Amino acid sequence: NDEQRLAVVKEHIGEFPDFPKKGIVFKDIFTALTNGHVCTCLKELIVNHVRSKCPDVEVIVGLESRGFLFSFTIAAELGIGCVPVRKKGKLPGECVSVEYVLEYGKDVFEMQKDSIKKGQKVLIIDDLLATGGSMEAAVRLVRKLGGEVQEALVLIELPFLNGRKRLDCNVHSFIQY
Ligand code: AMP
Repeated sequence: NDEQRLAVVKEHIGEFPDFPKKGIVFKDIFTALTNGHVCTCLKELIVNHVRSKCPDVEVIVGLESRGFLFSFTIAAELGIGCVPVRKKGKLPGECVSVEYVLEYGKDVFEMQKDSIKKGQKVLIIDDLLATGGSMEAAVRLVRKLGGEVQEALVLIELPFLNGRKRLDCNVHSFIQY
C-alpha cells in the first residue's frame, strides 16, 4: 500500500550535508531513482495521490528540472499533458515570465504562452519545497496564463523554512524533514 511505498522511498533519499553550500543539507532524489523498485514505488505513490485527491486535473506543470521527471510520469499515466516551467531563456516561442527573489538576487521563470488554456485545472509539481519561492513563482505564472491551480505537490517539504505560508493554494507533501 501507499504507506509502504512511502517508507521505501523515504529510506532511499540521499542526504548530502553542505551541498551546494555550507549549512544546506541537500536531499537527493536521484539517489533513490538508481533503484528500480523505488522508481516504481515513487511513481505509484504520486499517481495514486493525484487520482484520489485531484481527479479532475487537466494538465501537470513541472518545475525545472527535477519536477520534469514527476510531471511527465504523472501525465503519461493519467493520459493528460505536461508543461514545463523553466529559467528565462530556455523555452522557444512567445513566453510569459515572472521574477522571483532568491537568497541572493533574483531569477526569472517562464512558461510558453499557449501551454495552458484559460480555466484549465492545473497541478504543479516539484521534488522539494524549501522557501517556497520557486513554487510561488510557478503559481503566479500558471494564473497569468489563466490556469486554475488545484494543488502544489512536492515529494519533500522542509517545514522549518515555512514555504507553505507563501502559497495561497492547496499544498501537499509526502515527506517532511
Ligand atoms: P525554494 O524555492 O526555496 O522552495 O527551493 C525549491 C527548489 O530548490 C526546488 O526546485 C528544489 O529542487 C531545490 N532545493 C532547495 N533546497 C533543497 C534541498 N535542501 N535539497 C534539494 N533540493 C533543494
